[in-house]
Amino acid sequence: MPETKSYETIAANVAAVRENMRRAAEAAGRDPGEITLVAATKVQTSETIRNAIQAGITVCGENRVQELVAHLEDNAYEGAKVHFIGHLQTNKVKFVVGKVDMIESIDSVRLMDAVEKQAAKVDVIQDILLEVNIGDEESKGGAAIDEIMALARHAMECPHLNLRGIMCIPPATASDEENRAFFRETYQLFVDMKEKLGDNNPNIDCLSMGMSGDYPLAIEGGSTMVRVGTALFGARPPWHPQG
Ligand SMILES: *Cc1c(COP(=O)(O)O)cnc(C)c1O
Repeated sequence: MPETKSYETIAANVAAVRENMRRAAEAAGRDPGEITLVAATKVQTSETIRNAIQAGITVCGENRVQELVAHLEDNAYEGAKVHFIGHLQTNKVKFVVGKVDMIESIDSVRLMDAVEKQAAKVDVIQDILLEVNIGDEESKGGAAIDEIMALARHAMECPHLNLRGIMCIPPATASDEENRAFFRETYQLFVDMKEKLGDNNPNIDCLSMGMSGDYPLAIEGGSTMVRVGTALFGARPPWHPQG
């Protein structure tokens, strides 16, 4: 685990990221207030998370169940919301459902059904996003683009799920131009989903896209939620890369 990052360091980084977000939003004619900064806290210590919340972070994004459980035990997220943003196995849903404010990475009927079942059991309505594999990468999680609407309709039939929108992670190697195209495509999917399901579900309002390397582009492309790790906490150790 990397060393704890100080409040001062994180606060300066949060200010810089928020300033970039504001500029990107204004350049695109958007209201900066409609875009949420999610701090991607993987591999960070509970103390770093507390410092980030002290520095104004309102949502933390976790992508490993084990780290989520440890930080919950530490009460590290006190004062902020938590989103689960990583790959979720069906046998681990009990550690996540009802413990987080949103699960951003639902990518199959099987996983959705497992989350619904657990949400019913613990009697919560779980906010979810559908993760789309926008670059059609074999190694990545996320549903295929042409599966998304069927998944969204399935979510409508799950009484304990509240579908809020879409999340995507473009290929790590994408150029700015390629990223623009991926973000445009994901935005279109989001708009389609709102149009097709909007009457039945007025809650579709989240488009989670953009990370340290591309969040200004994602905001230009219509993102309402950026998930930023490196730009807030510094580079992660090489033995614990992405995901
Ligand atoms: C790690 C991670 C991020 C943040 O990545 P950075 O490039 O460090 O900003 C965003 N989303 C997910 C799903 C992640 O796992």
